[in-house]
Amino acid sequence: MRYIRYFLTGMTALFVLSGCGGPSRSDSLVVIDAGHGGHDCGAQCDGKQEKELVLQITQQLAKEFKRKGYRVYLTRGRDKFLKLGERTKIADKMDAKVFISIHANAIANKNRFEAVEGIETYFLQKTRDARSQRVAARENAAVLQGTDKLSRDVIIDAVLNGPKIVESNKLAIDVQNGMMRQIQSRYKDAINGGVRPAPFYVLVGASRPSILVEVGYITNSKERERLFKPDYQKRIAKGIVEGVSRYLDNRKAETGV
Ligand SMILES: [Zn+2]
Repeated sequence: MRYIRYFLTGMTALFVLSGCGGPSRSDSLVVIDAGHGGHDCGAQCDGKQEKELVLQITQQLAKEFKRKGYRVYLTRGRDKFLKLGERTKIADKMDAKVFISIHANAIANKNRFEAVEGIETYFLQKTRDARSQRVAARENAAVLQGTDKLSRDVIIDAVLNGPKIVESNKLAIDVQNGMMRQIQSRYKDAINGGVRPAPFYVLVGASRPSILVEVGYITNSKERERLFKPDYQKRIAKGIVEGVSRYLDNRKAETGV
């Protein structure tokens, strides 16, 4: 009898736990942004274009988020150009929980193409790190035309001390860990480029936790080949969803929202 009582108490606890702690994610909207598009092809190498690659990955990502019960909005579901400000504005307007911009990396020095590789996640912050500045400069290039340096600095300073930086940093760590777990379980030699702060303009103005993922180097032949494989893309998508889920679950446990 006692065992039956314990069993029943256990079952009730289990039921309550799954009732309130289980994934009730239909209220969580994630905005996914495929970088570049239209006349802005992003990085290019050996006939492959960043704008196409990131569109493929965001489509995998949307599928995976939906499978886990999230609501998803893509800033672009096809090959079109969007101004930078429009991208985060969408996330704000729709009251998204998080904003994720997907990009692929590249380097200019051809002699170093095969030496530089890795998966990196960025959050918005000024930095002295030369590598982060270089990546940001390349990603920002297409969108900075017509904006003078002073107003760019004013925009960026306005958000630098915002509370979202800490949250974005946490989100970036969870997403980077999720991706590396998924990728390295099959591709053991994949390089973890880590979480880095950088002044990306696509993240300026976002009033919610926002990150930019560089899924790999399109200029590195090994990574380029992998990046266009559906299995690799699925792993990237799964890892990002794992990371976002972990971040949102932890935040909910800490703050209730
Ligand atoms: Zn890019």
